[in-house]
Amino acid sequence: MLPETAAHSQQPSSARKILILGGGFGGTYLLRHLLPSLNRKDNAEITIVSDENYFLFLPLLHEVATGAIEPRHVACPIRSLPFSDRFKFIRAVVDSVSLSDRRVSTTAGTLDYDYLVLALGSVTDMSGLTSNGGSVFTLKTLHDARYLKNHIISVFEQASVEKDAERRQGLLTFIVTGGGYIGVQLVVAIRDFVFQDLRNLYRHIDPAIIKIMLIETDRKIIPRLHTKLGAYAMRQLQLMGIDVRLKSRVTMVHEDHVEINNTQIVPTNTVIWTPGVAANPVIARLDVKKDSLGRILVSDHLGVAGFPGVYAIGDCAHCEDPKTGQPMPPSAHAGVRQAKVAAHNILADLRGKDKRPYIYSNPFEVVSLGSSRGVFSFHRFRLYGFWARFIWMAGYSLLSTKAYNRIRIVTDWLLSMVFGRDTILLK
Ligand SMILES: Cc1cc2nc3c(=O)[nH]c(=O)nc-3n(C[C@H](O)[C@H](O)[C@H](O)COP(=O)(O)OP(=O)(O)OC[C@H]3O[C@@H](n4cnc5c(N)ncnc54)[C@H](O)[C@@H]3O)c2cc1C
Repeated sequence: MLPETAAHSQQPSSARKILILGGGFGGTYLLRHLLPSLNRKDNAEITIVSDENYFLFLPLLHEVATGAIEPRHVACPIRSLPFSDRFKFIRAVVDSVSLSDRRVSTTAGTLDYDYLVLALGSVTDMSGLTSNGGSVFTLKTLHDARYLKNHIISVFEQASVEKDAERRQGLLTFIVTGGGYIGVQLVVAIRDFVFQDLRNLYRHIDPAIIKIMLIETDRKIIPRLHTKLGAYAMRQLQLMGIDVRLKSRVTMVHEDHVEINNTQIVPTNTVIWTPGVAANPVIARLDVKKDSLGRILVSDHLGVAGFPGVYAIGDCAHCEDPKTGQPMPPSAHAGVRQAKVAAHNILADLRGKDKRPYIYSNPFEVVSLGSSRGVFSFHRFRLYGFWARFIWMAGYSLLSTKAYNRIRIVTDWLLSMVFGRDTILLK
């Protein structure tokens, strides 16, 4: 006897196929909303395809890159999500999507679908990068975070034996480009890691030569943040000794130095590139209407015009703030909310019921400014300093997928406060 809710493997071959591309915020939250509601009468089977076998909690990546949280603790295996017997997971890279043929090509073969959810996220926008043999770090994957952490520790190791003053200066200069949420949170985390942990271990390095810079093209950091919160954040960065350059850009990256605004040369071996996002290449190749960031212009119900049964969510979808008419920024919050609406609308499709529109609203703003400060706002209520950071920590640890991850993340934070961050250089 089948349970009332449908098990994937027990569906007849006539079952309608729901295919989800991407196991990030959009994809996994869609699963979480869809699975408990889907029942046998819906006669549907769900397959999710993603290039990693885990869901990655991106907002905590800068804490991984600076040794406060263990990499594994911000990742959750997709196969271990609740109701795992009701969906099929395929670890594969999606190569292309043919909306007209209703086919998806992956490294594990071709898949067809009745309903498709495009939740492949975005990639870091590298369009402003000009390089003359120099490389930059990005922060988008678990690998990026581990690689960056190893690099930061390794430049300290090299600097501790470097005799040449200019080369030592380059090794100890860290440049983050992009003063948005990711860049600001990362630059402060690097500052804390360097000055609270590494400095104590590399005692004969003169802290006065360590330089941490944030380069932003706009005239303020995190331009979307409320003016008062933004001003507080800016003041904190300056008090921490971070050299913030507004209305500036890295115009050329060389192997051991960068040019800023085509005029200033700064020796450095560490440039971290965070400004903005660009379309996932699979989405970029789709012949549908898109915005300037390459996001698909979806309908109120998150559907892709001209292709019934196809939805786009998260960083793949362009939606507007109904209050301002402005395109909403890519965010985990939006991905999670859209996943809920898309799940509802797929069920409505299956059951012939009314669909629900997605209405953007985000009354929260929260930014971490290192281990003991932050800014937070909820509607007109604003908080600065420790309690804002506390809300950030509580919020993000609670939002992370499973109890296991929550406990591990909170434990990591507590341990790093007492014993310091992890400074092991793991090859
Ligand atoms: C470092 C960092 C910090 C952030 N901090 C915040 C924050 O504090 N608050 C906030 O609201 N937002 C934050 N964001 C933004 C937020 O994480 C994204 O907006 C959100 O993840 C978008 O969800 P998504 O499902 O569209 O994409 P993602 O969560 O990126 O998921 C996309 C999934 O698709 C997979 N994938 C991609 N291409 C392929 C392919 N070709 N084949 C198979 N699988 C593929 C990826 O591996 C991933 O699993 C942050 C982003 C980053 C990078």
